[in-house]
Amino acid sequence: MSFENAKKQIENKPVKLARFMKFNKPRERKFGRDTKPCRRCGKTEGVIHKYGLNYCRQCFREVARDLGFDKFE
Ligand SMILES: [Zn+2]
Repeated sequence: MSFENAKKQIENKPVKLARFMKFNKPRERKFGRDTKPCRRCGKTEGVIHKYGLNYCRQCFREVARDLGFDKFE
């Protein structure tokens, strides 16, 4: 179960939530993959940082035309 799902389940239980947040919060990272999410969907896998795009490959496919990229063979 992901952190978000587990958190959602106990959001109405303040004591449990406080304890959960103390011990199960994902670490704040200064560098690495998780610090650079896609600016459109928040995905951290397959993100293109080249030219300062910061789109994941799926979002890039959808918005590339609008950004002025042309598709070549
Ligand atoms: Zn994306």
